[in-house]
Amino acid sequence: MKKIHLKVKKEDGERIRKRLTEIDLIDENIKIKKDNSFIYFPLKRAVDIENEKTEVVEIECIKLKKHPKSLKESLKDKLSERELKILPKSFDIIGDIAILEIPKDLENKKEIIGNSLIETFKNIRVVLMKKSKIETEYRTRGFEIIAGENRTTTIHREYGCIYKMDIASTYFSPRLGSERFRIAEQVKKRERVLVMFAGIGPYAILIAKYKNPKEIYAIEMNPDAVRYMRENVLINKVNVNIIEGDVREETPKLGKFDRIVMPLPKDCGNFLDTALQSLRKKGIIHFYNFSHNENESIENVRSITENLGYKIEILNAIKCGSYSPGLYRICVDFKML
Ligand code: SAM
Repeated sequence: MKKIHLKVKKEDGERIRKRLTEIDLIDENIKIKKDNSFIYFPLKRAVDIENEKTEVVEIECIKLKKHPKSLKESLKDKLSERELKILPKSFDIIGDIAILEIPKDLENKKEIIGNSLIETFKNIRVVLMKKSKIETEYRTRGFEIIAGENRTTTIHREYGCIYKMDIASTYFSPRLGSERFRIAEQVKKRERVLVMFAGIGPYAILIAKYKNPKEIYAIEMNPDAVRYMRENVLINKVNVNIIEGDVREETPKLGKFDRIVMPLPKDCGNFLDTALQSLRKKGIIHFYNFSHNENESIENVRSITENLGYKIEILNAIKCGSYSPGLYRICVDFKML
């Protein structure tokens, strides 16, 4: 099949491509052709745009396979209107694994949905369906592999760091990347930093990589997470002192810290006494909890610290995710006075 193309010299290609895109003239269903000296842009319609640098020519063309842009689009011929309506709009991607929640009414279509995800997004090799809430003490949940390769291990890249993990046996949330970076940015070179509840190491490794503070410790009690954290520290070539064990028992052995990160929103109020005992005066704590708003989080921190007999100054309180409708993951940054 022949189609009209705009023939332009290679050196003018980028400038003219931009201009053609601005006026919506490139036919995206046809392949852009090139030879040694010229580029041929397929045109949507015939227009008078020839000048001394361009020429409209009719040449053989190659039709591009139309690729769906979203999961919904890829499923529009495979699911009914009603099913498309209840299809989840978003899903998480960790490394090359997609994780999604499938409503009960759609479970009989899970293989079709999973395979569609793999066909639509080239970077996805495995699709997991959530099978339970995060309820275990290691903060893991149950999954079922519904499409792709038979594995739950992957490698995730974030802010220049590489994290290996097994999603089924360790906790990791790709949604917290910018929050981790917000914390890392605050760390100073001279500091001793402790990351409690360290998981596979994303806070500690990012802080070590970007700020390389005087000393950084990471405590985690899930042996599988600790194994991955050790590997991740090596992969990212950073210095982190990893301790396998319970935060309550291990923290008092480590001396005083300038900064303590407490990423266990479900329960870290119960560990504030341990953290405060190991914090230097003027030291900073990043305290995560689930609350309805920032003020509720601040009040929670104030009441726990007051009951423990500490004076504090609140530096910041920010929403950094949601747990359920109306309930947010909030980080309160505060200083001990
Ligand atoms: N900081 C990691 C991250 O952001 O990916 C992991 C956070 S996850 C919500 C909490 C982690 O704390 C889990 O890996 C769990 O195993 C660990 N944990 C829970 N209670 C603990 C305790 N008492 N001592 C040490 N680790 C604990």
